[in-house]
Amino acid sequence: MRRRFIADTWSPQTGRPTHAALTGGQAAHLARVLRAQPGQDFDVVAKGFLHRAEITAVSDTEVKFVLHEELEADAALPIHLLLAIFKFDHFEWAIEKATELGVARITPILARRTEKHLTLAAPKRAERWRRIALESSKQSRRTDIPEIADPTPLPAALTHESAPLRILLSEAEQSLTLTAALNQQPATSNQQLALAIGPEGGWTPEEMAAFTTHAWTHVTLGPRILRAETAAIAAIAIASTYFTS
Ligand code: SAH
Repeated sequence: MRRRFIADTWSPQTGRPTHAALTGGQAAHLARVLRAQPGQDFDVVAKGFLHRAEITAVSDTEVKFVLHEELEADAALPIHLLLAIFKFDHFEWAIEKATELGVARITPILARRTEKHLTLAAPKRAERWRRIALESSKQSRRTDIPEIADPTPLPAALTHESAPLRILLSEAEQSLTLTAALNQQPATSNQQLALAIGPEGGWTPEEMAAFTTHAWTHVTLGPRILRAETAAIAAIAIASTYFTS
């Protein structure tokens, strides 16, 4: 596989890009570590489109490409992660890992037991979370960048969820495992899946009832209480094996 990069800049700005460039750390890496030369080919994602791209100029601060034929991008996992907001350092780690594992979308959820100061600070963090998703996409050579929604209160998120398959990870569920719930689905279905993970304090009984009202399936990951970020990663990894790519 050719090395893949997400472009920092491209032109023209409107319509399909024909030229692209890597700047900053990516340019330095290509120039100094990979010793890139004009004429070499890489795979470059520009404005969401994956192309075979040929280097036209190299410096430590900018590597320029002309874009050749478009290549088929690999699809993200059709997973929407609804992640209750918890301590920011752990939350950001979860965004990074969920991006590496390939989720299509993450909605930070303002849950009842999300700590007050985090709820207040969350709206200003969304841009930082998007940058983390971008950096993690570059690092993991994704061809797309997961969408990070604005922090959303749970009732609104439940009302707007359109995935046909909706699964709540619940430490209170005793019997139905995530694997069993997914096994009940036809093997070939690549339908959208929504996965919800609670905050450190867990979901309140009222929130659990609201999930049930909106026909979410409650599942367990086993008898141990996992940290929210561990539950998120385990759930994505298990769910990813149910999608044919
Ligand atoms: N405060 C709770 C634990 C919350 S863990 C308690 O101590 O009882 C944070 C979130 O991780 C939960 O809301 C749930 O979504 C998920 N989670 C943790 N352990 C889980 C398990 N064994 N099965 C399913 N989900 C789990």
